[in-house]
Amino acid sequence: MLVKTFTSYFMEHVKLHIPGPVEVSKKTFRAFCEPMIGHRGQGFKDLYAKVQPQLQALLYTKRLVYLGTSSAWGVMEGAVRNLVSKKVLCCMCGAFSDKWLDVSQRCGKQAEALQVDWGSPIRAEAIDAKLATGQFDALTFIHNETSTGVMSPLAEVAVLKRKYPDVMFIVDAVSSMTGVKLEFDALGIDVLLAGTQKAFALPPGLTVFACSDSALAKSATVSDRGYYFDLNEFEKNAEGNMTPSTPSIGHIHALASKLEDIFAEGLDARFERHASLAQLTRDWAVGHGFNLFPETGYESQTLTCVNNGAKPGGRVIDVAKLQKLVKDRGFLIDGGYGKIKGTTFRISSMGDETEATMRQLYAALDDAMKGL
Ligand SMILES: *Cc1c(COP(=O)(O)O)cnc(C)c1O
Repeated sequence: MLVKTFTSYFMEHVKLHIPGPVEVSKKTFRAFCEPMIGHRGQGFKDLYAKVQPQLQALLYTKRLVYLGTSSAWGVMEGAVRNLVSKKVLCCMCGAFSDKWLDVSQRCGKQAEALQVDWGSPIRAEAIDAKLATGQFDALTFIHNETSTGVMSPLAEVAVLKRKYPDVMFIVDAVSSMTGVKLEFDALGIDVLLAGTQKAFALPPGLTVFACSDSALAKSATVSDRGYYFDLNEFEKNAEGNMTPSTPSIGHIHALASKLEDIFAEGLDARFERHASLAQLTRDWAVGHGFNLFPETGYESQTLTCVNNGAKPGGRVIDVAKLQKLVKDRGFLIDGGYGKIKGTTFRISSMGDETEATMRQLYAALDDAMKGL
């Protein structure tokens, strides 16, 4: 019988360069496997108390940062259930942001689309015009639309909060948190959330999020907000270094390990590393004759969405064949998402990647391109 060791498993597996889940390090997995502890005991409270100030530094906030056991959609849906009583404006520019309209409606909320073409960002002026109607008490906004590789101008949008203080600004930073600087308190938004399988480079199943005082106050007035994602339950429990229900404790050990890495590197260095690796990937694509899918100036800093016929211009290849050839060389890239599957492809450079590891991927891609 063949017994694989932890190390040989890591040497043999196909390395992930899809935009989530991303590659998880051995160090992180080892931390995940710490012996189990009770979630109401002092050991757990100490663990949460250790990560809390680091999470606050990461998000540039004095608010308590919450840990939810679910993938991001749990908290995305929860935010809508907690904070929408009139009507929610769903800012839509790709598969994830588009889906939030449907999710809001399935939660029984009145919802309206602010749709732009995939590849374009959401601009503050468009949101301003909608909010000026006075119909809305919340909006959903995705900072980094992972399906199109577009990063929308969050800071400009967040400025609108001052003009519309009663509107709840719910922001998904799933594929940008830890890769791009997000200053929660300075932005003045109401909810900021991310799942851990993207730029955190942890396994999927945990969501890190923060919310404003006014979000807590608003949530307290909404009677059908449920329990599992009740923001006030998260606040009350976080005050005692606990979570409302039994969390994925392994994830929190892994998070503690990852936060060690993040602060050893330094936040600014981490943000710069992400920016420069995304630039290297764009250079690789353009160097091979491709165009980029995002509108110029709005490219993601954590992943690259390469145009492959979704819009005019640039080279077009057989994406499925490229994926197979790259996989034979040990790497998994993404073949495009939703309605732009095959007419785009995506390469993730988020998490633990370095220039050296990205160069290994580009070498495999270069080699694979010769076989097309
Ligand atoms: C991955 C992703 C999601 C969905 O996250 P789940 O972990 O599948 O719930 C939502 N928004 C964005 C921007 C994402 O990249």
